[in-house]
Amino acid sequence: MNGEHPVVIVGAGPAGIRAAQTLVAAGIRPIVIDENARWGGQIYRQPPADAGFQRTKATLYGFEAKKADAVHRTMRDLLPHIDYRPETLVWGCEAHCLDTVCNGREARVPFTHLIIASGATDRVLPVPGWTLPGVYTLGGAQVALKAQGCAIGRRVVLAGTGPLLYLVAYQYVKAGAQVEAVLDTNALSRQVAAAPTLISQPSTFAKGIYYVAWLKAHGVRVERDVTLVGIDGAKGVTGIRFKASHDDCAKARVDTIACDAVGLGFGLRPETQLADLAGCRFHFDQLSRCWLPDRDVAGRSSLPGVYVAGDGAGVAGADAAELAGRRAALALLDDLGVAHPRHLDGIDAAALERRLKRIAVFRTGIEAAFAPPQRPAKQWPDDMTVCRCEEVDAGTLRRCIRDGEATEINRLKALTRIGMGRCQGRMCGEAAIVLLSVETGRPLENVGRLRSQAPIKPIPISPMLFDDGVAAIPEEARDE
Ligand SMILES: Cc1cc2nc3c(=O)[nH]c(=O)nc-3n(C[C@H](O)[C@H](O)[C@H](O)COP(=O)(O)OP(=O)(O)OC[C@H]3O[C@@H](n4cnc5c(N)ncnc54)[C@H](O)[C@@H]3O)c2cc1C
Repeated sequence: MNGEHPVVIVGAGPAGIRAAQTLVAAGIRPIVIDENARWGGQIYRQPPADAGFQRTKATLYGFEAKKADAVHRTMRDLLPHIDYRPETLVWGCEAHCLDTVCNGREARVPFTHLIIASGATDRVLPVPGWTLPGVYTLGGAQVALKAQGCAIGRRVVLAGTGPLLYLVAYQYVKAGAQVEAVLDTNALSRQVAAAPTLISQPSTFAKGIYYVAWLKAHGVRVERDVTLVGIDGAKGVTGIRFKASHDDCAKARVDTIACDAVGLGFGLRPETQLADLAGCRFHFDQLSRCWLPDRDVAGRSSLPGVYVAGDGAGVAGADAAELAGRRAALALLDDLGVAHPRHLDGIDAAALERRLKRIAVFRTGIEAAFAPPQRPAKQWPDDMTVCRCEEVDAGTLRRCIRDGEATEINRLKALTRIGMGRCQGRMCGEAAIVLLSVETGRPLENVGRLRSQAPIKPIPISPMLFDDGVAAIPEEARDE
């Protein structure tokens, strides 16, 4: 079947694995590509396979251990029925063909149908000092614990906002790390106001309350409604400064907490670069304040044969990712004219959609309770680095904007090189857009969407060379 219809899934997280399971049950053998060495994606990330790693699933995944185990087992059972390509990065996508690299070797993977289940990454907003050694993203701090069994420092502060803030703090303290404080830029009142919506997923809501209560019971300082003033240090982090974000914020006393590492994050942002390179249409989503690929309820993008599922289509969490992966696979089967499998827990397309709708309601509560701060962009000092790959500071961006040279993000990129480096805007793109919006007084959706370019992540130069040594760099990227 696969020879006739090459079906490819990018991502072996909850969405990609459930999509693969559904396709296999219908008699299709998909290619499943993931840059990680082991399947599971972010939430169910597995530690290295070597015997030296001692932490159990219960320790690694806590309340989610059963779900993690179910997803891991599903993938293990699928292995004989799929073409699984771990440690393989998809760095480009065009005209029904993916560009991949594995162990420095390039391969082009044609497809007739593609499910993009590429997940999310941390939403990063800069704070003075954020480029110091010892500052990690919140997700990075969690990856260190899950995949390496280590903490990011001896005295850690976790700062920013979002559910991951409290979860990572809980996981760190449980693992024996010293968490000096949790600093949330959102007020408790926002979280209380969102409670009627959050209660629509009672067990998830209860877990959130439990983490905070548990942290306080274990003596962890939890400060809410703060403005992060800066991270201190010369060769590495020595402390973090913050103050209360109330109306009289300018006069508020600055408080300092000594620490040697900071985990910083403001929620998650979907990884949409492959969908962009594939040519999918996008729209601005007011709820999550970012651009998302257009999709129907089943996960069909604007391009025939290309589907988006899981956090990569819009952050909604792991349960939603599993459901969306299945739903996208059913849509793909419909489009191929293949009958739905009968024996997958009896869950049909309509049931999947109903459950996804319920989670979407919960998501509105999460976005309201943990909105990323916009106000501090006004106060970002001119000498603060915004784009660390290309070393572009806030002052350079401001000058360019105030001179009237850039009112659109891709113009700002062309003029300053912001977002053109190794991270391709994944770390700095949001900050640049927020700054552009604040400086021009235009809403986020009116300052444009950062266009993706291949390669979306750093790759060795060799796979980009054809046999004759001519660089296969896409035409539009050559003059940048
Ligand atoms: C760092 C981090 C930590 C998180 N921790 C938690 C948590 O503890 N609890 C929780 O409830 N939620 C957590 N989340 C959110 C949670 O991960 C997601 O809701 C859930 O995993 C989404 O599943 P998914 O299948 O859509 O994506 P993911 O689980 O993110 O899986 C996506 C997969 O796609 C692969 N991929 C992406 N791009 C490419 C590419 N170009 N080439 C090849 N492979 C690619 C990635 O390697 C990854 O394995 C976390 C998110 C992040 C970013």
